Amino acid sequence: MTNHPVNCSILTIGDELLIGQTLDTNSAWMARQLNLEGIWLKRRISVGDDAAAITAALDQEREYSDLILITGGLGPTSDDITKEVLSHYFSSPLEVNLPLRQKLREYFERRGLPVLASNLRQADLPRDCLAISNERGTAPGMWFEREGKVFVSMPGVPAEMEAMMIREVLPRLRKRFGAPEILHRTILTAGQGESFVANRLEGFEKQLPPQIKLAYLPSFGYLKLRLTAFSPGFPDAFRVLEEQANLLARELSDLLLAREDISIGAVAGRLLLGLNATLSTAESCTGGQIANLITQVPGSSAYYRGSVVAYHDQIKTSLLGVYPELLAAHGAVSPETVDAMARGTRQLLGTDYCLATSGIMGPDGGTPEKPVGTVWMAACSGTQYLTRKIQLRFDREHNIQAASNQALLLLLELFRGARGAKG
Ligand code: AMP
Ligand code: MG
Repeated sequence: MTNHPVNCSILTIGDELLIGQTLDTNSAWMARQLNLEGIWLKRRISVGDDAAAITAALDQEREYSDLILITGGLGPTSDDITKEVLSHYFSSPLEVNLPLRQKLREYFERRGLPVLASNLRQADLPRDCLAISNERGTAPGMWFEREGKVFVSMPGVPAEMEAMMIREVLPRLRKRFGAPEILHRTILTAGQGESFVANRLEGFEKQLPPQIKLAYLPSFGYLKLRLTAFSPGFPDAFRVLEEQANLLARELSDLLLAREDISIGAVAGRLLLGLNATLSTAESCTGGQIANLITQVPGSSAYYRGSVVAYHDQIKTSLLGVYPELLAAHGAVSPETVDAMARGTRQLLGTDYCLATSGIMGPDGGTPEKPVGTVWMAACSGTQYLTRKIQLRFDREHNIQAASNQALLLLLELFRGARGAKG
């Protein structure tokens, strides 16, 4: 076990990353995993499929870090050169790995595909690397150690890299570097912006031990607060962090949604399970994004019945039972319409609760009375009804995200009412 935090660099390789054709989601995903493992990410860097650039990056990152995680450039085509560069860099000539070659042969034969020479070359690996198996593809990963530093090369395809990290790389890293030294506790809040929360937490921040840091992570409509303890030389870190997290949750009890790092979709799901209740949604302007937030949570089928994406007025009237006269009198973006959408869909889909949205997401379609970003939302049960207007100021994509989050928060408010009513 090391007595300082393990420093890590992530090196993502691929011309497509530099021209913005592919978004580098690998490094963000890996960064989150490393963080949970207590491995400190020092630097992230991206280079093209270029031998000199890759070599220079390796030289540089080994100065900063104990662990260098690499993705990309392992495909069978000639533009992918990472393996050859690593072979040269570590003076470790390529040699055929016979069991791997056999596995590759079987992989293609099982699929009724011809076995190309370029595919078989994926079984050629640098002599002194440890081959890491790839459950979801053909390119193996490679683990090198030099002068106490670990280098791991993985495929660029996110699904392949993720499975390799979870099943192979992280367990080996735990063995190699020992237990976490960075600990986190996260709480999820909503109802006040970060500057107001920060103002309330002045006293709390003053009494925080210096080894614990507080981070504010605002998102559309909610705020995560993360406490991080750096445990070297801080033997009681776990207990002190726990105490501080409890204190923080008490300070913000009126805003508290969860004492874990979970999504608001997951918060809503837990409350529905607790109430033994079902939910449906009627989405106009959010176009199914609320359904997406809810169904991203494993097990959501226990409480979520479905959604009607009622984008056109005709669907609102014919399917959801919104009266055409009501729509004509108040317009699609109005408290009357979203309320009628929620009531109608609740009936239609036979659920305990329903959530509805209707708004103008832009860039066009605004009027002086209802400018772009105007969203009405409604939440209802059989006995309670809430409607709310919000005014957003982002681009279309982010307006949709923000409206969806806000709608879920409205549902949480309705639940609070329900629990209050039950005593
Ligand atoms: P490669 O291993 O270079 O053959 O990468 C295969 C594919 O994975 C590329 O075509 C990209 O679409 C994708 N990919 C590569 N690097 C990344 C990355 N850092 N983040 C997300 N996707 C990536
Ligand atoms: Mg590539």
